[in-house]
Parts: sequence; C-alpha cells; structure tokens
Amino acid sequence: MSSTNGSMNDGSPWKVHHPSSKLSMLPFPIYGSTIECHGDDGIEVTGDIAPPLHLSTTFISGAPESYGQVYSRMDNVTRRRVEAVLGAVEGGQAVTYSSGLSAVTALINCIKPRRIYLDAGYHGVKDAVKLWSERQNVGGKLEFFTWEQCKQLYDQEKNKSHTNHSLWRPADAEEERTLDLIWLESPNNPYTTLVDIEWFAELAARTGACLAVDSTLSSPLGQRPFEHGAHVVMHALTKYLSGHSDLLGGVLIVHPSLSDILTCKLLAERSIDGAVMGSLETWLLLRSMRTFSLRIRRQCQTASIIVQWLEQQRVDGHKVKKVHHPSLESHPSHSLAARYLRLPPATFSFELESESQATSFARSLILCAQATSLGGVETLVDWRYQYDTSVSPALLRVSIGVEEAEDLIQDFEQALKQAK
Ligand SMILES: *Cc1c(COP(=O)(O)O)cnc(C)c1O
Repeated sequence: MSSTNGSMNDGSPWKVHHPSSKLSMLPFPIYGSTIECHGDDGIEVTGDIAPPLHLSTTFISGAPESYGQVYSRMDNVTRRRVEAVLGAVEGGQAVTYSSGLSAVTALINCIKPRRIYLDAGYHGVKDAVKLWSERQNVGGKLEFFTWEQCKQLYDQEKNKSHTNHSLWRPADAEEERTLDLIWLESPNNPYTTLVDIEWFAELAARTGACLAVDSTLSSPLGQRPFEHGAHVVMHALTKYLSGHSDLLGGVLIVHPSLSDILTCKLLAERSIDGAVMGSLETWLLLRSMRTFSLRIRRQCQTASIIVQWLEQQRVDGHKVKKVHHPSLESHPSHSLAARYLRLPPATFSFELESESQATSFARSLILCAQATSLGGVETLVDWRYQYDTSVSPALLRVSIGVEEAEDLIQDFEQALKQAK
C-alpha cells in the first residue's frame, strides 16, 4: 500500500472521451490533480474560470449557444463536464445518477441478472438488490450465490472462457449463464476488508458474468479496479468524490472497451428512468472535483496517524479492543492491501470493550460529530450498530476529515477517558 504520490498514470483519457476538447492538442499527458482541474476544459467555452451554475431545464432548439442541449434530463453541459472529469479520474466512461443506490439499481436494471454474487458490505446495496429482486414477478427471483458456490463454480468452469476481462458481452436472450453479475465492495464497510478482485475477474471470465466493484471507500485515488479486471466501477458520489457532505449522487464508470454495449445502454435508460443528479448537485460536484486529490491524500494520511494512535491505545490496554484497518499487520486484508491499495483508507472502524463505552465515547466527542456517512471534510464517528445489527455494538466507524491530526487525537483522547 503506497501512501505517497497516488498519481494517476492513465495516459490522456480526455482524448478518448472528448476529442473536441482543446486538451486533445496537449503534447504531454496530464495526471491526478491536473485532470481534476482541467479534464473538462473546452467542453463549455466561457470566460469564467469557475464553472457557471446553470439551472435551466430546457434550451433554445438548434441554437449554437445551446451546445446541442435539448432538455436537461437527457443531457446538460455541467453534467458533461463533471462526467468527463470523473471518467478521466477512474479511466473509463462515467454515467452519473441521483444517488449511490440509484446507480446500483441502474446497473441491475440494465444487466437484468438472474444469478448474482453479492459480497458483504454496505447494507443499502443489499436492500436495493433485494428490492429489485422482489419486483421481478415475471421470470422468477434473483438467485443469490454464496462464496462457497462461487468457489465451486470457479473449479467447475475451469476450461470455459466466455470472455476476456475487457470484452464482456451481455447475455443473449436464450443464453443461460451460471452467473450474471458479481458485485464486490472493496474495501468494505465498516471493516475495510478487501476482496481479491483478480480472482473474481477470473470467475467473471469463466462464467460470462459482469464484474462490478463498489470502490466508494477507497475512492479512485486509493484503488484502480479496472487494472484488476473490473468491467464497471461504482462510487457513491455522496462520499469522497463530493467530499463535503452536501450532495447525494452516484456514478457507474464503465470500462472504455464496453462503451458501445454498456455505456450507451446506461445513458439511454437513464434518460427514461430519470434518476439524474440535480443541477445544483452536479455543479457542486464539479467544484469538489477540483480538490479531490488534495483532500483524499490528506484524509488518508491523517487516518494512518489516528489508526496508529488507536493501535497504541489497544497495546497499552486503554479500552480499545480492536482496530480494523488494513495498514495493520493484524488485519486479515493486510497482504491484499499491498496488492490493491495505493492509499490507506480514510474510513475504518475500531471496537471498545462494550456497547456503553462505544456510545459514551461517541457522545463525548467535541470536535468530531457523531453522524453517519463518510468521505466529507469533517471527521465523523458513527455507532454502526444502530443501522446494522450484524456488527458488534462496541464498534465505531470513523471517517477522517481534513482537520489537524493532533487535534483529532486530543478529541479522541478526552472522549476515551470519558467512555464508560
Ligand atoms: C453510501 C454508500 C452507498 C450508497 O450511496 P447513497 O448515495 O447513499 O445512495 C453505496 N456504497 C457504499 C460503500 C457507500 O458508502
């Protein structure tokens, strides 16, 4: 897990996505923060340095200043700009939605899986998939595969290869696949456990399944799922990409090789389903993208310091029983983290000795707020058990913000003293 530069060496993705952009003339590739600030240059030509906020839902038909926009559910220029940046940052084609869960539902609607492997993780994703399944009254419900069944399939389908990773195709009407969709969340919520994405990419190749990775917790800076065989990467934009806890959004980023068969279909279906981000949210997201790398590097670095401090409290016997973070050798994903993570996650969890210690710790914090969600500039501490009873009642999830590490440690220290 390298915690240093995290720059994104993907050549020049704007050339692929926006051939009309003036950036396609650049004689050198740009990376990281430069893409975040310039990945949308030339898409909208104004004298403004900061993107203008457009609220109009409709546009003068055929006028050159309308940029080909007709009606904002279908397409609008701020969305084009933010999708250009998001796509460039992850190395694919971005399709944004009104929330993380609407992005999940959009992919499922598009793929129409009959057999799915859904990894452990954010409970909301499971709820969205189950709800979708319940609504399938024609053709039977979705079949959920277990990890054991995946292992069996992996061996069984050894000699088959429906696809190589980048050339996934949707199943034909008559085609029965042993598995249609693999949905992974890595690192997952709240234990930051990692999944061996390449193993699942091989399973996807053997079965013909689509491999989607919810990469929200690591953000595009912390992990590159396309380099490990993912077909689709999903992010809750609500979290690190927007980074200020002030908008809801989700994105599916599609591997560039699947543009004709998947991106086009998702875009067409989104226009009809209508689950698009609002104008203000889209604009806020574009503004947030300008500081994305700056925020994430800082948050990840501070998280490592806090994790070390918590681990020291554990070693010294000061109420901390367990710290769940893959930078620690004791974490079950420590070795996978070396392969997959470019930055240590800024969201993690730890356990105190009891439920009452956990709740009184959270209540005693002064700087940090007790609240759910993650990825924002303010540090949040969340007593997860109230939303997810599968976790220990002594567990607290922490989302590190951009405050000074020393100040956070002092707040944690005083709250730990008061935890009873
Ligand atoms: C928040 C979150 C989601 C859902 O995003 P919403 O914008 O709340 O719908 C999905 N996956 C993960 C890992 C999340 O943290």
